[in-house]
Amino acid sequence: MITCKSDKELAYMRDAGKVVARTLVELKNAVKVNVPTCELDQLAEDFIIKSGARPAFKGLYGFPYSICASVNEEVVHGFPSLRKLKNGDIISIDIGAEVNGYFGDSAITVPVGDVSSEAMQLIRATEESLYKGIDRAKEGARLSDISNAVQTCAEGYGYSVVRDYVGHGIGSSPHEDPQVPNFGKPGRGPRLKAGMTLAIEPMINMGTHEVRTLFNNWTVVTLDEKLSAHFEHTIAITDDKPEILTKVGSR
Ligand code: MG
Ligand code: MG
Repeated sequence: MITCKSDKELAYMRDAGKVVARTLVELKNAVKVNVPTCELDQLAEDFIIKSGARPAFKGLYGFPYSICASVNEEVVHGFPSLRKLKNGDIISIDIGAEVNGYFGDSAITVPVGDVSSEAMQLIRATEESLYKGIDRAKEGARLSDISNAVQTCAEGYGYSVVRDYVGHGIGSSPHEDPQVPNFGKPGRGPRLKAGMTLAIEPMINMGTHEVRTLFNNWTVVTLDEKLSAHFEHTIAITDDKPEILTKVGSR
C-alpha cells in the first residue's frame, strides 16, 4: 500500500532529509586520497547523532554500519573498512537518518583525487538521470514515467541500469511500497498523488547491468568489475514541482 503523508509527517521527513543532506556535504568534503572508508562511517555516525537523528542503516536488516561505502565496481551496500581511498577511485556513499520515526535516504558518488574523464562522465550522467527521474515525479503521472526517464538518460550515454536493486517508497519505514525501478516503459504502475514520498536511486554501470553479491552477503559488485555510480534523493510528490527532501536548502 502506498501511503500519502500528512503535513506533520512531511515536516518530520524534511527534518530527517536535512540531516541526511548535511551529513553528505560533510562526507563529500572528507573524501580524500588515503582516507580509510571506516573514517567516513564514524564521521557520518557522529554527525547524524549530533544532529539529533539516528543513523537509519545501522542494524537495518542486520547491516553493521551507518553508511554504505561502495568503491569503484561496488554498486551498493559496500562495507566501510580500513581500505584507504586511492587517487582515481570513485566512491558511492549512501546514508539514511531517522527523526521522530520518519526517514530520509540519499546517496552520492564522489571522485577521489584526479579521476579519469570516463569515470567523471559516469558520475555526472548518473546524477543527471536521477534529476530526469525527479522531473517526472508529478501528481497525475504514472510511477514508471520516473523509471523510463532514468533509463532513457543513462542508456543515452551507453551505460546500463542495474535491474536487481531499485528505489522505493519511504516514510515511517525506510523501505515502503512502491518499488521504484530505474527502467521500464512509461505510462505504467500507480498514478502519483501529492503526499507520496519516494526514494529515487539510479545505480548506473559503465558495462553490463549484471551484478553479483560478495561473500559478506551484502556488497553488490558489477559482474564485469567495471565502474558503477549511484545517486539518490528522497522526494515528496506535491500538487506542483516535486520537493527534494534530502537537499541542503530545499524549501
Ligand atoms: Mg539509500
Ligand atoms: Mg534507498
